[in-house]
Amino acid sequence: AQDLMAGKRGLIMGLANDKSIAWGIAKALSNAGAELAFSYQGDALKKRVEPLASSLGSDVVLPCDVGDEASIDALFDALQEKWGKLDFVVHAIGFSDKNELRGRYVDTSRANFMMTMDISVFSFTAVAKRAAAMMPDGGAMLTMTYYGAERVMPHYNVMGIAKAALEASVRYLAEDLGKDGIRVNSISAGPIKTLAASGIGDFRYILKWNEFNSPLRRNVTIDQVGNSALYLLSDLGAGVTGETHHVDSGYHVVGMKAVDAPDI
Ligand code: NAD
Repeated sequence: AQDLMAGKRGLIMGLANDKSIAWGIAKALSNAGAELAFSYQGDALKKRVEPLASSLGSDVVLPCDVGDEASIDALFDALQEKWGKLDFVVHAIGFSDKNELRGRYVDTSRANFMMTMDISVFSFTAVAKRAAAMMPDGGAMLTMTYYGAERVMPHYNVMGIAKAALEASVRYLAEDLGKDGIRVNSISAGPIKTLAASGIGDFRYILKWNEFNSPLRRNVTIDQVGNSALYLLSDLGAGVTGETHHVDSGYHVVGMKAVDAPDI
């Protein structure tokens, strides 16, 4: 896979630290020869993202708050200036008030519902529109989702509703952009201990549950997500678009785990 991404340039959005899913994806793409640019949210993250980017040979590190249209425009103007063209974009961004990532979904406030949908759903469409304009020869886009979009998971609440909308966006974007040779997919990752995940109630229990009940009987790593991202973003995935690809140790296929002959 050394030269799978040779000559390709792409943007990674959502890197916070070396636990981030974006980091697993960036490493896999860089190892395959891709040239990367990174965006970060806010000055506090700049000093974390810069050294990580530099360790992969990238000095294109730009600010972007996806809640702000002008900030997204500024990011793509800078990339246009720097590269002119783009081959891929990775959107690994989500946010909700952590006070509403515990307890019941029914208690979601209107303000947090709107904010969660804006940052975690609309931002991907806003990014896709600008990125597509820089992909005259086709390209690939990827976002990150979770099983809480398909089934009720404890404490995931409004984020589950947002991920369902995000997965639907992937299908609509795939159709809109497919005729321009642009593929749009998502990875539905199993639970991974990251900064964002630490905001979810009982997250340690959720990790254990997935470890014990998934077919592979283990949790996934950011490097495993990274390798699947490489498949979807490279020509290996040339026939795939509009897809939600599960990288979850198979958790989503299990209705009930087998137990040793229970005596009922
Ligand atoms: P993370 O905290 O490392 O990354 C989340 C990123 O979102 C951060 O870099 C943060 O700066 C960015 N972000 C939040 N609001 C933003 C804004 N307004 N503008 C720009 N950036 C903003 O956590 P992660 O777990 O790597 O999350 C990446 C993605 O993966 C998210 O979409 C998350 O929902 C998804 N995901 C995570 C898991 C998990 O268990 N960790 C599982 C499935 C899907």
